[in-house]
Amino acid sequence: MEKSIQLNKNDLITYPIAEIFHSIQGEGAWTGVSAFFIRLAGCNVGCPWCDQKESWKHKTFPKYSSKTLAIEAHKANASIIVITGGEPLMYNLFPLTNALQNLGMQVHLETSGSYPFSGNFDWITLSPKPFKIPHESIYDKASELKVIVANQKDFDWAEEQKNKTNSQSINFLQPEWNSDISSSLIYNYIRKHPEWRISLQTHKFLGIR
Ligand code: SF4
Repeated sequence: MEKSIQLNKNDLITYPIAEIFHSIQGEGAWTGVSAFFIRLAGCNVGCPWCDQKESWKHKTFPKYSSKTLAIEAHKANASIIVITGGEPLMYNLFPLTNALQNLGMQVHLETSGSYPFSGNFDWITLSPKPFKIPHESIYDKASELKVIVANQKDFDWAEEQKNKTNSQSINFLQPEWNSDISSSLIYNYIRKHPEWRISLQTHKFLGIR
């Protein structure tokens, strides 16, 4: 039987939304799974290779309530809900994650960790960036660590971040999409460092979001 939608006053709290869409998770441990994405607008991390630069300025985007987002996510009937950005932890994520989980949905987070942690999640992807280092509150909570590699020196950053992250986390190195060399760098690195895995942006190979 379909779960009835009962919401509370926190569900009226709003968030700036760059886009919501139903697709397939393309990266990390949940690659290939039906996923509904909630992309919050706003980010000041400033990664030079960011593929979501249009989402940085939160004031230019409409605001949606937790209630509206939960209803839209519920309608999609996806396996997982992914809260991404932008940088989602710029906002208090408790109202949104509670609204989603109250409807029985599995909620995942993708974050750079650069703001204090908030929310209730079933899975947390930490993708730390050297341009704005993570807040200490995230390292114990990460389910997977995903470090983008654009050049050789990024491996030092990756090892530093792995040493700070809890031992249960799955460790991924992911090529920077526009780099000609990062895939082969990662290939060679993982053969010598088997505690790492590669994550590929399969949605980009498929030409989907
Ligand atoms: S943290 Fe994410 S959204 Fe923000 S600049 Fe870096 S890649 Fe772009």
